[in-house]
Amino acid sequence: MTPSLPLPPPGPDCRLTPPARVDRSPIEGDGLFATAPLPAGTVVSRFGGRLVSDAEQHRLFADAARSGAYVDTLSVGADLNLVLPPDAPQRAGNHSCDPNTWWVDPYTVVARRDVAAGEELTLDYATITDDPDFVMPCSCRAPSCRGRVTGRDWRLPTLQVEYGPHWVPVLRERIAGS
Ligand SMILES: [Zn+2]
Repeated sequence: MTPSLPLPPPGPDCRLTPPARVDRSPIEGDGLFATAPLPAGTVVSRFGGRLVSDAEQHRLFADAARSGAYVDTLSVGADLNLVLPPDAPQRAGNHSCDPNTWWVDPYTVVARRDVAAGEELTLDYATITDDPDFVMPCSCRAPSCRGRVTGRDWRLPTLQVEYGPHWVPVLRERIAGS
C-alpha cells in the first residue's frame, strides 16, 4: 500500500463559504447552490470533522444501519476517513458525472469552472471515495453520465485525465502510483 501523505488535521466543522447555500434540488432532495456568479477557483466548501480508520468507519456504518441514522464520510488518506458532523451543510451536496466543483486540498472544494448564480453545485463522488463496495445508480443527465458511480471509478483513465490532481489525497496518490 502506498504510504499516506502526512495530512494537516481537519477543523471540527464543515462550512459553506458565502457564495453557497442549501436549497431543494432537481437532482435529489436538497442540494447546494451558488448564490452569486462564481469564477473558476472560488472556494465554495471547507470540510471538517474527525478522522477515523476504515475499520472504525465500517463500525459507524453498521451502527447507523441499525439505528436508522445517516453517517457521511469521505476518504482522505490510506485507512483514513473524515466523518462529517451531523449538521454539515455539505451532506446536501449532490453528485454529477460532470461536476462544477472539485478538490484543491484535503478539505477544500472550489469551482471547477465559472458557475452562474443559482446553479447547483455538484461533486463527482468518484473523487471522494476509495470504498470498493460503494455503488450508486446515477441519472444526473450530464452527457457524460456513467449510469452508476462506484468506489472504483478512480481507475477510469478518462476520469484521471479529466480531473488531473483534483481528487481527495488518497486517490490522487493512487492515481499517481498506478
Ligand atoms: Zn451521472
